[in-house]
Amino acid sequence: MFSDHLVLAGGGHTHALVLLRWAMYPKLKPAGMITLVNKSSTTIYSGMFPGVVAGKYKIDEILIDLRNLASKAGVSFIHAEIEGIDLKKKKLLLAGRPEIEYSLLSLNIGTKTNLNAKSFNRGDKDLAVPIKPFYESYKFIIDQDIHKDDSSAKPFVIIGSGFAGMEIAFSLRKRWPKRSILLKIKSGRKIKKNLLRNLKAQNIEITQKNPSILYPTLICTGNKSFDWIKNSGLPIDKKGRVLTKKTLQVLNYPELFAVGDCGVIKDHSRPSSGVWAVRSAKPLAINLEGLSKGLKLEEWKPQRKAIQLLDISSIKKESKAFISWGEIMIGPFGFLSRLKELIDKQFISKFDLVKDIDSDMSTEEEMIKCRGCAAKLAFSPLNSALNKLDLIESSADDSIDIGELNSSKTLIQSVDGFPSLISDPWLNGRLLAFHACSDIWACGGSVISAQSVVNLPSIPNNLQQELLFQVLEGINSALTIQGAKLVGGHTLESRKISEEPFSLGIESSLTVNGVIDNKKYFWPKGGMKKGDQILISRPLGTGIIFSAFMNGQVKPYILDNALKEMNKSQHEIVNYINELTNLNPRSKIVNACTDITGFGLLGHLSEMLESTNSDQLKMNLEPFKVTLELNNIPLYDGVKELLDKGFESTLAPANQIFLKNIDGDKNLRFELKSNDSSSNRSYYNSMLKILVDPQTCGPLLVCCSSIYSEKLLQKGPWIKIGFISE
Ligand SMILES: Cc1cc2nc3c(=O)[nH]c(=O)nc-3n(C[C@H](O)[C@H](O)[C@H](O)COP(=O)(O)OP(=O)(O)OC[C@H]3O[C@@H](n4cnc5c(N)ncnc54)[C@H](O)[C@@H]3O)c2cc1C
Repeated sequence: MFSDHLVLAGGGHTHALVLLRWAMYPKLKPAGMITLVNKSSTTIYSGMFPGVVAGKYKIDEILIDLRNLASKAGVSFIHAEIEGIDLKKKKLLLAGRPEIEYSLLSLNIGTKTNLNAKSFNRGDKDLAVPIKPFYESYKFIIDQDIHKDDSSAKPFVIIGSGFAGMEIAFSLRKRWPKRSILLKIKSGRKIKKNLLRNLKAQNIEITQKNPSILYPTLICTGNKSFDWIKNSGLPIDKKGRVLTKKTLQVLNYPELFAVGDCGVIKDHSRPSSGVWAVRSAKPLAINLEGLSKGLKLEEWKPQRKAIQLLDISSIKKESKAFISWGEIMIGPFGFLSRLKELIDKQFISKFDLVKDIDSDMSTEEEMIKCRGCAAKLAFSPLNSALNKLDLIESSADDSIDIGELNSSKTLIQSVDGFPSLISDPWLNGRLLAFHACSDIWACGGSVISAQSVVNLPSIPNNLQQELLFQVLEGINSALTIQGAKLVGGHTLESRKISEEPFSLGIESSLTVNGVIDNKKYFWPKGGMKKGDQILISRPLGTGIIFSAFMNGQVKPYILDNALKEMNKSQHEIVNYINELTNLNPRSKIVNACTDITGFGLLGHLSEMLESTNSDQLKMNLEPFKVTLELNNIPLYDGVKELLDKGFESTLAPANQIFLKNIDGDKNLRFELKSNDSSSNRSYYNSMLKILVDPQTCGPLLVCCSSIYSEKLLQKGPWIKIGFISE
């Protein structure tokens, strides 16, 4: 079944463990293309969440980095929200992007908090927050920390009669020793005597009535299925859980699996619980692996009951826990709390093994070559080859002028491309388009059309078709928001053995056509003027971040932040400057501009200065100098820390050639300034690395007079990082 596209929908506990198995034992992984889709790049291990609330663990300690895990398992990762399934066409529908086709689909998307409980006094929705998703309820709890030492603050209410509500009540008591805490349980709900005694001893008030006034409330009223699952047409039980056979295949849909809270075996119904989600990982993996080998699927019978440990984080004494087995509950004992801690830590630390695999690799094997724009040729060989060539007239500007459309409009063109930076083919296409368009923007142009060349791995046609569709949709989505179109292109099939995941084997390039309304509005690369200020449009550091990512060492939020910024079109900031120019047709707003890509800030600024000074010298004028204010250079979150750990792009060493221009020759001279507090050597050295860090979807850099710089700084997102002087 090599032509399969197995889609893992949701990165819950089960899929995380399946991926871990394939990362550790790659030979077990089914053949074909595998994609994980999740609405966040991390998933939370729920067993430790009450510990986070109690302040026992940090939230980072209980996160599973799905993007890294998928990457180590050779699986593509798509960061997107699933909105539905088209069962007939076998498509998973995603929010804000094209659907993906599957031949096999496994659902592990969990559930949401059940907000339909009658006892729930809805009130102001900002004051009443469901426990799931955990990210949101945790933010709510942090916001409520302002009242943590205030015994006269409004009581904090937890609605819920189950273990989750009680465990959270104990954890909040530990977090807020003084605040009044109310646990609202269902009328008629009987709580075991010893548990009740402990709730009261910790000053947690139990009530069966709805609080009459609006208090901040956390809702822990059990769970229910997502609406799109209920509306999908799949067989479901009363709670909306997808009914499966003992093989975990959905009834009547052999190509579909459902596990964890969102699924239930029809003949072995069990209450939703993380325990079953975890235990179903092995049978699911075995059956997915078996299908790919044409083996008969195995049946799984979960045990009837599972042991549960309920931690009560005591304020004064050591933490204790109850143990429950069906109706029996014993405790609380300190050793049970220690046992729970041991089990939880063992579970979460399994995922560290993925990092361990990596650290061995990076010490023993050759450094992994960086992707994206860091995969371009170094400056020296490129420059030498171009200098030998006298066939084409090489342009110093970012785009070349390819003719006039009419007496005023000029057509410009540029081309760019790279091997896939990330395993999501759609997002990669989009990033490629933004990256390639930046050459047109850097000339003050508007993009009108583009043609692509997509080199696909040598894999079955149906998989090539799906990958090509995703890449082209990604490119097109980035063009259409600028009013441009993808008008044509070409494909190639690689003769190399494809890398896994297959989506990483794609290499694409884009020829972009743009137009400049009036030739005099063209922004040259050279053209800096004395007194010009240098403005940059977005942070630096993508080369460092992606190098750390390829080594499995970047915190998920750091990569999420960078990708979010890179995934923004910069055409509007160009349009704004053009509007300003139209209002002041006699003045030139941008004297010089470029986009920062593979050669880093210093490399591209060197090109600007070289071109400017060559004109100065032709006119017998003094050459200019660039002063960079290091402290003002914006960096992506986490970049400094990653640099301190030694991460840098594989293209960065070649870019160091530009460092000679610092305090260098009169005709190409840079001066670096930093304020006193940070002028130490290690800061300076780190900044040198940032100056030569290659950027994918990097910033635009403009030089303009202080009058216009003020306007641009006010409008944003520009940041002033230096100036031009003689
Ligand atoms: C406070 C609390 C404490 C708990 N403690 C325990 C415990 O100690 N032991 C225990 O066994 N159980 C516990 N549970 C129950 C446990 O949380 C669930 O049973 C368990 O998380 C289910 O795991 P899962 O793999 O099915 O889904 P989840 O862990 O919920 O994971 C689902 C994943 O799918 C993603 N997702 C959801 N919707 C979409 C979408 N539309 N598109 C893309 N991705 C999506 C989510 O972001 C998430 O990453 C606790 C529950 C609570 C509320």
